Amino acid sequence: MQYTLNDIYLKIGESIDVVYLIDTEENTYVTLKDTELFHSYYGDSGEYLELMDSFFKNSVDEKVSHDTPYGVFSDKNMRFTDEVTRCSCFRFGEKKVYVDITKQIMDSRFFAISIAMSSEEKYQEKVHIDQSMNVIKSAYLFTMIVDLNTDKCGTMSMSEVDVTPVNVPDFYYSEWRKIILNMFLPEDQELFNRITDPEYLKKTLSYERSNTVDFQMMNLAGKYIWVKLIFHRIDTGNDDDFKFLYMVEDINDSHMMLMATMKRLEDSAQHDPLTGLLNRSGIDAEIFRRVKKGKKDSRQVSILMLDIDHFKQINDTFGHAEGDEVLKNVANLVSKRIEEIGGVLGRWGGEEFLGVIGDTAIEDMERISEEIRKSIEEFDFGKSGKVTVSMGIIEFDESDTPKTAFDRLDAALYKAKESGRNRVVRG
Ligand code: GH3
Ligand code: MG
Ligand code: MG
Repeated sequence: MQYTLNDIYLKIGESIDVVYLIDTEENTYVTLKDTELFHSYYGDSGEYLELMDSFFKNSVDEKVSHDTPYGVFSDKNMRFTDEVTRCSCFRFGEKKVYVDITKQIMDSRFFAISIAMSSEEKYQEKVHIDQSMNVIKSAYLFTMIVDLNTDKCGTMSMSEVDVTPVNVPDFYYSEWRKIILNMFLPEDQELFNRITDPEYLKKTLSYERSNTVDFQMMNLAGKYIWVKLIFHRIDTGNDDDFKFLYMVEDINDSHMMLMATMKRLEDSAQHDPLTGLLNRSGIDAEIFRRVKKGKKDSRQVSILMLDIDHFKQINDTFGHAEGDEVLKNVANLVSKRIEEIGGVLGRWGGEEFLGVIGDTAIEDMERISEEIRKSIEEFDFGKSGKVTVSMGIIEFDESDTPKTAFDRLDAALYKAKESGRNRVVRG
């Protein structure tokens, strides 16, 4: 025999109690290690298919999981090239044994089945997770048929086409609505009540179309997942009837993907690709938010407008690409300093930047702006050499509207330019 117990230990460690080496060419197995109980059933060697068959018969798993341990090891699954571990329960007569079974491929001909004794607790935990996973996995988590005229409802499987509810005594739609309410987020419960209200449904559910609403709903594992609730009126041929199908569709994965895509699009719509800063609409929105928050908290909010001096000359002398480098460097230097103190900088257009800092009075803003101005003046821009900037700064006033605030800011910047550039002017 080519492989020893040591070879198996090297692959999966020593904490295993039973090991069978399977020869898929000969269709045989050899016992490399076992316990008394396993030995009494499977001995020193035997037919591989008999071993599998016995595993299958002794396993009680098939009731709780699609994948029986047999399924993992059967011939059709021989394509597994990786280790597969499965928690399982075997029945030997009256005795139940909880085990972790591992399949370890040794080469194209041999594989090992290693069994480590486990516990009922671990097994139950696994079963619970399996069940929750199955609920999440199936796209339609739940289907129910409701008769509004009798207030009765019943569950049905997807394959059932009979429109008569499976009558469970005392399973009333009105009761069900109350019970299921707790599975939704508190802030969504009012909406759930509204859309499941019988009168509302009678008014809005037409034969041709389904009502759908997306919610976050608690799954069996206690975690909120995104679901689509679908209401579909059944045409019984009698308009006096009011029966509808209610389905819960799992849309969590697609919803999460959609949200991530939306977030990326939202971000790119709000950001300037050259500098990575917020763009004009992004910084405008940010200023608006901060001014609003400042008003609410009675805190000062200061705003800065920065414009690179003689930037056109840089472009004209060294080219547009070099101009872009200067823009990136300035953006970097300024945003770093502003972000350090909890502010935000955006590119307002061309070589103009707009920054906002909450909880900062104009005196502090002036000091910080002066630091920024100096740091740029002292920075080595390489080919472009020395670059300077002019800034206008204001503190947002109680009486300011966005328009008056921007006018003051613009005037301050203009003054900075007029009075010689490379300076900060309070507006
Ligand atoms: P001032 O000191 O008065 O601000 O003079 P200035 O030359 O900086 O101002 P002006 O408004 O005359 O020129 C701004 C220049 O910025 C003109 C435009 O070509 C350039 N510019 C705008 N956006 C970009 C950009 O994304 N990249 C580069 N390289 N240049 C840009
Ligand atoms: Mg300009
Ligand atoms: Mg300029």
